Amino acid sequence: MAKLWAKPFYNSAKWKKCRESYIKNIDGLCQTCLEKGEITAGYILHHIAPLTEENINDADITLVYDNLKLPH
Ligand SMILES: [Zn+2]
Repeated sequence: MAKLWAKPFYNSAKWKKCRESYIKNIDGLCQTCLEKGEITAGYILHHIAPLTEENINDADITLVYDNLKLPH
């Protein structure tokens, strides 16, 4: 369950758009498996550097592809 302070972010249009385009960009596949030559559907989108109350409004952390991954 998302933390209360993170709720407005996860409900924001810019996050939903970012999330959608990122998943589309990697065809919804787990990139770790793909590196091993395996095709596995990704499951839940994660931020590599976890979101905190301090960085939740920092688009360079919350909305960049480099900080996202979709493990299976
Ligand atoms: Zn995988």
